[in-house]
Order: sequence, then structure tokens, then C-alpha cells
Amino acid sequence: MTIYDSVQKTKLPFIPLQEGKVSLYVCGPTVYDDAHLGHAKSALVFDLLRRVLEAEGYDVLFARNITDIDDKIINKARELGISTTEIAQRYTAAYTRDMEAIGVQKPTLEPKATESIDAMAEMIQRLLDKKHAYTISNGDIYFDTQSDTNYLSLSNRQSMENVSRVERVSEKRHEADFALWKAVHDEGVAFDSPFGRGRPGWHLECSAMIERYVSPHVGDYAIDIHGGGADLLFPHHENEAAQTRCATNHELARYWMHNGFVTIGGEKMSKSLGNSFFLKDALKSYDGEVLRFYLLSTHYRGDFNFNEEDLIASKRRLDRLYRLKKRLFGLSAETIDTEFKKNLLEALGDDLNVSRAYALIDELISSANDALDTNPKDKTYRQALLSALTTVETVLGFGGQNPYEYFQFGLDEAAKAHINGLIEKRSEAKKAKDFATSDAIRDELSALGVSIMDTPVGTFWESRD
Ligand SMILES: [Zn+2]
Repeated sequence: MTIYDSVQKTKLPFIPLQEGKVSLYVCGPTVYDDAHLGHAKSALVFDLLRRVLEAEGYDVLFARNITDIDDKIINKARELGISTTEIAQRYTAAYTRDMEAIGVQKPTLEPKATESIDAMAEMIQRLLDKKHAYTISNGDIYFDTQSDTNYLSLSNRQSMENVSRVERVSEKRHEADFALWKAVHDEGVAFDSPFGRGRPGWHLECSAMIERYVSPHVGDYAIDIHGGGADLLFPHHENEAAQTRCATNHELARYWMHNGFVTIGGEKMSKSLGNSFFLKDALKSYDGEVLRFYLLSTHYRGDFNFNEEDLIASKRRLDRLYRLKKRLFGLSAETIDTEFKKNLLEALGDDLNVSRAYALIDELISSANDALDTNPKDKTYRQALLSALTTVETVLGFGGQNPYEYFQFGLDEAAKAHINGLIEKRSEAKKAKDFATSDAIRDELSALGVSIMDTPVGTFWESRD
């Protein structure tokens, strides 16, 4: 497998720190609002990476943190007149629900900032002891960027220009120095620590959690792979790298992976998406798998221009997969090592080359449809085909639904119950050889936009679009 390392700016062969194991850490959400398409894209990219590594046989420890204390959460809590805990719980639940809807698997570890204060305090103490941090008169503690000779090596910056947006604190020794701990002297949200009441700096969270929960402590690196959105490279990841390097004497990650930005296609988003970029709104109009298929369809390093035309084209592409799956309905999956699986993993093992992977799936569907037209009853072929589709489901995370239910997306439970009732009545009429009634019901269903298929294992239906 090869991975593009955003620090060395080149593709490198993946060599794990420990044989057969991978430690992967991805910066998670700050839970003060619903997840938008950018969150979805990042979560999907690293979910795919994890699935590919697992399919390659690695035992993957996948950690993604939850930033559940932050100024944004405090502001939102003030705005709504509820506690920060309530805000964090509400949006953590929303994030979990939305990610599940697009097939993102739960991380192995999901540490919360508020439950890791002691790990952060311990790292601050080490940085203070080693003179990489200093305390100013109001009790805030800062990281001394000039004390780290490798500072800026991660993002390859030559100077500290463009960091003027960082808040100006007159007692800071250097402009780039960042807060490890912010002292709280009033009634505001704060945690007890050896440095008094206060709140940890955001950058510190990931370094401390990686050290405490994820790092296998072998070799020169804390973990194998650190991932996140491209916007995190500087200053967030630069600062994480500096903290870890200075506190632990090893580098944070052997490979750094960053996914591109998501842009929304102009202002002309269709009404069905309501001009919203929240994932939960997109999920009202589209099956989670369609969104997954679409958001993963371009290479993770490039920027992703979200527009509904491409989304609909993606849906049509996924529809083809489900139509093929219908042709195999009733067959139970057996694991067969297919040539397809080998090719798919080879494509994705090349720094997640999804274009090649998707092309392989398109080819598989086309050749399968031809083969099934010619010889519909070849059981060995059908088994191998189903096995290939199961590989797609495991590695790429789509195609796993009942194909008939997939085509029923968007109908509410009442509508489905009504249709199922009609189908049952029709079956009874057919059994009683009352063909006038069964034909009339078929027409009624057709008028509702429903196509029915009678198969040896029962009658199935789908809504036409
Ligand atoms: Zn982070």
C-alpha cells in the first residue's frame, strides 16, 4: 500500500510501526452544531482508509476525538440558555447519527476532551519542566514555539506571517506561541488542574490523547497515521507535532494525510437540498449510501465541488449496482477470493485511488449484466459475482442494502404499509384465481408509481423515479 504523506509531499510505501497493526488518529468534531458536508467528506475518507487497511489484513486502532469543550460550545450554550454539557451531548449524538447514516463505522476509541483533562495536564507539566512552555501573569500557559527547532517543519512554512489572526497577548514571547491552558478566574466553565482552574487549549487535546490512549510507544513515532482536513495542517497539526515532539522526544506520526475542501456548487442548490450544507438536510432527500458514494467519488486530496447534478449522476451509478444485485436476489453470499477483490484492493491501496476503484465496479456491473443475459443460471458465476459485491460493501461501504428496499427510499412508513397491503391482497386474489382483482391491484400500484416483481422467493416492489 502507498500513502501520500503531506509533509514529505510524496507517495510513500506504507510500513507500519508494529507488524500487522496500524494506529490511526483523526481529528474529530467540535460539537456545537450539526455536521456539514465537509465533516462528512473527512469522516468518509478516513473510514475508507480504515476499511482498506482492514481488508489488507491489518489490525487497525482507529481513534477520533470529540472536542466537547471549546469557546464555540460555550457561546452556543449562552445563546440557547442551556449548559455546555447539554450542547455537547446534543451535537455528539447528532454527529454519531449522521455519520452512521452515511456508513461511517464507529471509531475503536472516541475520547472526549472533558474526560481527558488529566492527560492534558500531565503533558503541560512535562512541557513546563522541559522549558518548552511558560506561564504568564494571568495564569495562562503558552507553548514556546522558539524552543522547538523543528517548529514549522510540518507545514513547511518559512516564516510566521499569516498568523496575525492569532489573538495578541502582550506577554507572549513570540507571536506564534499558542495557549496550552487558559486560566479561568470567574464563574465560567472550568476544570481543576495543578495549574489552577481553567480550560485546555484545543491543539493540546490531540497530542495528549494520542500519547495517553493510542500510541503503541515503539520506534521514533507516536502513531502510524494522523489524518484530518487540509485546513488543519496549519496551525493545528503543526502545533500538535511540536507539543508531542517536545514532550515525548518522538515525532507524532509517520504519515500525515489531509483531505481537500468541500465547496458548494454556486448558489443554485436545488430546493430539495434547501441551500443547506448540513448533512442531515441532504439525508432527507438522498439515501445515506448515495451521499457516501458521491462524496467518495473523487480523490480525497483534491477539493470536492458539491453539486446536485453530480449527486444525481452518482445515484444513477449506484442504482446500476443495486439493479445487478436484484438479479442475484435470493442467493446467499459465500466468500470467494475473486480476482475483482485483488484488483479493487490494488486500486485503493494506491493512496485510495477511488476513480480506478469505481471504474472497476462499473466494468464489473457491465460485464456481469452481459454474462447474466447470456447464461442466467450459472450458479458458480452468480456466487462469484455476489462475493464481488460483498467485497464492495465491506471495503467501500455501499451496496449492502436489500436492493428492493434501496429503491423504496423516500417513502414513509404509512405509504410502504399501504403498498404492502395492496401486494398482499393481490397475492390472495391470485391464489384464489381472481385475476380480475389481481390485475386491478397491479394497475392501482402502477398508478402509485410502484413496479412489482414476482419472484420465486416472493413479490418485491420498488418506486419508480
Ligand atoms: Zn487534532
